[in-house]
Amino acid sequence: MPAISPIDLLFRGNARAIAAYLIETTDGPALYDCGPATTLPTLKAGLVGLGTDLSEIRHIMLSHIHFDHAGAAGPIIREHPHIKLWVSERGAPHMIDPSRLERSARRLYGDEFDSLWGELAPIPEANVHIADGTVNGWEAFPTPGHAIHHVAYFNDGTLLGGDVCGVRIQPETHILPPTPPPDIDIESWHASIAEIRRRSPERLALIHFGITTDAADHLDRLEERLDLWARRVGDGMEADEFVRICRAEFGDAADLYELAGPIEPSWQGLRRYFDKKAEAAQASE
Ligand SMILES: [Zn+2]
Repeated sequence: MPAISPIDLLFRGNARAIAAYLIETTDGPALYDCGPATTLPTLKAGLVGLGTDLSEIRHIMLSHIHFDHAGAAGPIIREHPHIKLWVSERGAPHMIDPSRLERSARRLYGDEFDSLWGELAPIPEANVHIADGTVNGWEAFPTPGHAIHHVAYFNDGTLLGGDVCGVRIQPETHILPPTPPPDIDIESWHASIAEIRRRSPERLALIHFGITTDAADHLDRLEERLDLWARRVGDGMEADEFVRICRAEFGDAADLYELAGPIEPSWQGLRRYFDKKAEAAQASE
């Protein structure tokens, strides 16, 4: 199996919230996701701890473009223009020109944007490659559901799972399905998990957080929880009750899980999914 090493980015001083991975490829060392710009110093320190540094990294292979996974890519490639970025076709334009994404995120996060995510920087088009098919010895395939621009990578039993594989802050065992706006789609999420199962992965690399080796059981529990959350919102549960009930299920670990998958935005993402569905049903009548 290919070598993969998680690096704890110590997001906002917290262990095990966000990872990036140093991975082995047929074209040298690569990063699988890179965290936000605010954790660039811990990413660099983590690489040094693994005996390497950004000057030796040849590729960044992104799961998707959410800032906690991809925010640092622009600043990294500005400093190290030899690095190639791999991202889905839907995500690529936003990495080349992040201004629209940044504007809408700043409206959402307000004053917190800078302390959470830090700088975004445009990436020259020449550095940006589409992650589909074979990428440096890994098979890249679309895995929408959490985000329309999400891909997973598979290589010899190892699946780089991104957020479509859920949040599980190991050694905690709870699984949280992160369902923030704008493009949650429950049907395509299940279809993506079916695509993952078809490859029979032996281990899943989770960004939030760590490598799990009980992949089939993990995916069962993720799908159950995703359907449970969807049912709650679909049946009309209000945001405050949803947050209260979901937080209670995580017990003492609720705050830690919410660093990686905040629950109120998950209610909003599911609400939006059901509203869009209702609108589409009406339009087709
Ligand atoms: Zn995400």
